[in-house]
Amino acid sequence: MDALTTARRHLVDSVWKRLGIQNDELKAIMNAVPRHAFVDSALSSKAYQDISLPIGQEQTISQPTMVAMMTNALAPRKGDKILEIGTGSGYQTAILAHYTPRLYTVERIASLSKKAQGLLEQLGFRNIIYKTGDGSLGWESWAPYDRIIVTAGAPVVSEKLKLQLADGGRMLIPSGGRDYQNLLCVDRIGSTFRETDLGECRFVPLLGKEGWEK
Ligand code: SAM
Repeated sequence: MDALTTARRHLVDSVWKRLGIQNDELKAIMNAVPRHAFVDSALSSKAYQDISLPIGQEQTISQPTMVAMMTNALAPRKGDKILEIGTGSGYQTAILAHYTPRLYTVERIASLSKKAQGLLEQLGFRNIIYKTGDGSLGWESWAPYDRIIVTAGAPVVSEKLKLQLADGGRMLIPSGGRDYQNLLCVDRIGSTFRETDLGECRFVPLLGKEGWEK
């Protein structure tokens, strides 16, 4: 086993210990996705520390603990139609792509979207549909989605996004202040929505019509 694979195993083991979760499928996926490939080569040595890292354009790749916590809470099932808002480096995208034949991902910064697409294609992912644009509005033309994950902090849980959830669907979204938010899990049951607060978190702002002003 090479040094990066060993470092990745140690990281994933420590994240599982920290979160106290039982999710062998997600653990295997996080052990398989090479996080170091999603950051600049100068940061490779830090890729297996449990920290967020810069990816350019003032954006970040999320902390592995947060990625594991959100994906575990999202609880994607095989075959779910999933929408991700905030492609960023494409790391969370790669993890979600293991669960679904159709993953839709939206990023507002064209250069990040293009870079993530190039890397994910190089890694062999063929089931991802990319869009550059304002994901605070969701992606209406492919709705409804079984799962929606927003990886940037929103001022409010947008009605537009909620209405793009399928009946029985679930959305994970950081919501609150521009710098600090609470991670909310929104479940749709018919025409009602149940919100559960999973605790404090810190994300870059979701910028857009249903997000923050630039
Ligand atoms: N999940 C990403 C990863 O694994 O690298 C990290 C995402 S980063 C914390 C948040 C991303 O959301 C940034 O790339 C940012 O440009 C993007 N973003 C912010 N507002 C957005 C919007 N309205 N629509 C789409 N993407 C947005």
